Amino acid sequence: MPLFEAKNVVKQFGSFTALDNVSISVPAQCIYGLLGPNGAGKTTLIRIINQITGPDSGELFINGKKLTPDDVQFIGYLPEERGLYKKMKVGEQALYLAQLKGLSKTEAMKRLKYWFRKLDIVDWWGKKVEELSKGMQQKVQFITTILHEPLLIIFDEPFTGFDPVNTNTIKNEILFLRERGATIIFSTHNMGSVEELCDNITLINKAKTILEGSVDEIRKQWAGNEYDLTLKGDVRLQGNNHFSVLDQKSEDGKTSVRIKTADKVSTNDILNFTMRSGEIIAFNPALPSMNEIFIRVVESRN
Ligand code: ADP
Ligand code: MG
Repeated sequence: MPLFEAKNVVKQFGSFTALDNVSISVPAQCIYGLLGPNGAGKTTLIRIINQITGPDSGELFINGKKLTPDDVQFIGYLPEERGLYKKMKVGEQALYLAQLKGLSKTEAMKRLKYWFRKLDIVDWWGKKVEELSKGMQQKVQFITTILHEPLLIIFDEPFTGFDPVNTNTIKNEILFLRERGATIIFSTHNMGSVEELCDNITLINKAKTILEGSVDEIRKQWAGNEYDLTLKGDVRLQGNNHFSVLDQKSEDGKTSVRIKTADKVSTNDILNFTMRSGEIIAFNPALPSMNEIFIRVVESRN
């Protein structure tokens, strides 16, 4: 059973459709990427999951039960529009927000110390929020989102406003949160790091889902008939009417070849041919990057 599910969500603003029958199914303890260009409908869906706004139609489930207002206690949410009280001191504010989430002062203090150390912002505890850079404020808000150890954590564009080093820190922390048992949904308009972070994704374009599922499965489905072959030694593979050689290079005593097979040629046939040229040490489907797939999917729709 998925930890979270949205089924056939429709949302209109006047005559404009922001979400057109969007469904997502989020397995427990997975990192789920809500992907798509600006204006696709990602934030609208996130706001619906957080019950800030209601869908016109569609249903939401957490652990198989209909989502209710009480469930917000199990959800940690970092909105796209960040906001801490500028005049309040960082530590004081973090403590206050943690207590609002139901933590005792002692417990909140213990957890905050751990996270401030982990994200390297201990020195900022006594400063006012307005004295912090955008990135630092984002780190504080990241901590206040996850401090009460919610079951489901939702980050809306978590990397916006971070430099590459801090983006990496946050990525690692998201992986760490999954390891600790959390389920994470995050949105991004940047398709770059999908493979390294996401177990599952949905790609939304102009209010509609155009791709959904496990990253591994999707990449296999779109693999087409290209394969990566590694042969022992410095060999030169020739294409024939069964396959063509797209790319080939020899180094460190082995040769890597990308081939494309003709239709209706089995992998056994390919192996039969290629093994005559040398000893095969690896043979794998060549998986396209998610970015390549996105471009192909979007183009096929236009
Ligand atoms: P994303 O987060 O994918 O960039 P959004 O969900 O924020 O996209 O927005 C999707 C579309 O819905 C946009 O065209 C946006 O202008 C529109 N939209 C979002 N919220 C409202 C609103 N409250 N009233 C009218 N239009 C809205
Ligand atoms: Mg958005």
